[in-house]
Amino acid sequence: MNFGLAAHRLHRLGPDSSLLQWARACEPGLRALGLGLHATGGAHAALTQQQLLASQLVAVGQGRDGGLMRLVSRLAGGLAPPDALDGMFFLIDPVDPTSIYPEAQALKRQCVIHGKPFVATLAGAIEWVAVELLDAGLDTVNVAGAAPLFALESQVVALIAHDALKEQMVAFADQHFDTLSRFAGRVATGTTGSRLNEMAWARGWPAAQPWVTRYQSGPLGGDAQIAELVLDRRCQKVIFFEDPHVARQHEADIQLLERAVCSAHQATTCFNTPAMAGRWARAVARLTQSRRP
Ligand code: PGA
Repeated sequence: MNFGLAAHRLHRLGPDSSLLQWARACEPGLRALGLGLHATGGAHAALTQQQLLASQLVAVGQGRDGGLMRLVSRLAGGLAPPDALDGMFFLIDPVDPTSIYPEAQALKRQCVIHGKPFVATLAGAIEWVAVELLDAGLDTVNVAGAAPLFALESQVVALIAHDALKEQMVAFADQHFDTLSRFAGRVATGTTGSRLNEMAWARGWPAAQPWVTRYQSGPLGGDAQIAELVLDRRCQKVIFFEDPHVARQHEADIQLLERAVCSAHQATTCFNTPAMAGRWARAVARLTQSRRP
């Protein structure tokens, strides 16, 4: 398995940068998984200098030499099978001007289109290595800092789906109802929230009590309201089933929410596809089962 790896300047400079924190926490896990990392110039240099992940790294070149562009191609399958990537770790600083370059946006878009994980925060990158380990039955390998990310009872989750994916969101929430009900709270954009509450009430959730708290509909500002919760550290997980195949009238609001998630990068994680959310939910179930006496 191979993932792309990139980190904006803020996240790779200094001895305690997010990139180095992640590499130290996850090195045993990444090694156990045999996960190769196709890393762009700055990330590759920062890790090599600290002698971290040496056996995992493949250099793909600096940004100005097309490092990120190559990763986009490889997420779409690359030019030959050994180059294909299975997902992307991209530690994003939302105020780095390169975060809105076309290649940065295309990276996420290709991940969404191909149902591959796109992970943009420190918390998310730690969580995802733990998910891969659980998936591979290697959950005995420790990932430092992962445990609080799986303490759902102290977190709030946001559930959002574009129109073409609303059915899949309802099916996901129905299938993983017990896991999602463990969160301290659930919030949603307006229309997604109505569908989810109907599903929960049909399952016998108390009628007087909505299963999710609804904000405005997405186009009327619901994504921005949820972004404010994220910025206030009052929402730690965003499950956002995005439709990458249509023009979105509220594209700015969608990107605003994703940038807010990156601002809260030590505390917040985001899943953009049913495939990613499903793998996380199955990992949580496996973890819960393994802790049962
Ligand atoms: P909706 O909003 O749940 O109100 O449809 C979702 C979105 O479009 O962001």
